[in-house]
Amino acid sequence: MSGQEHIGFSPAQVQRLGELSIRGGPEPHSFAEVAERDRTFEDLQRALTLDNLNRLDGLRESGAPLLGRLARNLADHLREEGFVEVTTPILIGKGSLQKMGLDPDHPLWRQVYWVDRSRCLRPMLAPNLYYLLGHLQRIWELPVRIFELGTCFRKETKGARHLSEFTMLNLVELGPEKEPEERLTELAHSVMGRAGIEFDLETTDSEVYGPSMDVVVDDVEIASGFAGHHRLDENWGITDAWVGWGFGLERMAMVLESSAQIHRFGRSLIYLDGARLNIQRQSSARQGAEA
Ligand code: ATP
Ligand code: MG
Repeated sequence: MSGQEHIGFSPAQVQRLGELSIRGGPEPHSFAEVAERDRTFEDLQRALTLDNLNRLDGLRESGAPLLGRLARNLADHLREEGFVEVTTPILIGKGSLQKMGLDPDHPLWRQVYWVDRSRCLRPMLAPNLYYLLGHLQRIWELPVRIFELGTCFRKETKGARHLSEFTMLNLVELGPEKEPEERLTELAHSVMGRAGIEFDLETTDSEVYGPSMDVVVDDVEIASGFAGHHRLDENWGITDAWVGWGFGLERMAMVLESSAQIHRFGRSLIYLDGARLNIQRQSSARQGAEA
């Protein structure tokens, strides 16, 4: 064997380091010998296992995972800003999707989990919020401000930034007192400021709303928003302008932790609050090294 031959971590080692490291897999390494590589792997595995144990010990101490803290923090903030929290059904009717412009030709349609012929698990909160606004605009003076924090479901095949079940924070203000686009931008700053995350705003083209705005951190989309009058409004009896944002809370948790893996922060039996669960204290951290 030539001394120049490249020896990297084995696929099993790369996988294990990826599981244990909140930031994703190991940097590419090159070793002179297998024994050196395995020693390095053992060291890294031990250190990363300790990180995960420390995280779990911290969680035991605080009792409060990041996602829950974020949700409570943002809900408190929105209430302080005059928004009313609402809780609407997770099972929604086919008619609601159709009123959102979704039909079998729409890309989102293929991502919907149907529970029977006429009902599905909501892929978004917007139809329910539209529905509530239809009533509340009669009952309360404008501006009407509501938000919901809850699970949405989409069949996803896209990997590290998509979950099949994720937490959406959808806020909407009907009848904003400022220029809708100015208010939309203000609300993005308000929510992201409270979350403590720096971001950029980008104009984009949403599958549901058409021209809209995104909150982006590096190249990760955190939220999509819309300002103004929309052609869907008439399906819901809405005539005033509105502004609304849908934030993905696990995406926020992921960027707050500088992680590349959203699955750590979602509903899981493998991770708890970002920490991998198939670990043990002390010497068993040495197990799992496979060439
Ligand atoms: P993407 O283009 O990243 O698939 P999207 O534009 O389809 O997202 P929206 O419908 O705009 O998503 O939903 C609002 C927010 O909800 C997104 O900005 C994102 O933060 C979050 N989100 C959407 N789909 C998922 C998912 N499958 N897993 C986790 N978060 C998601
Ligand atoms: Mg979007």
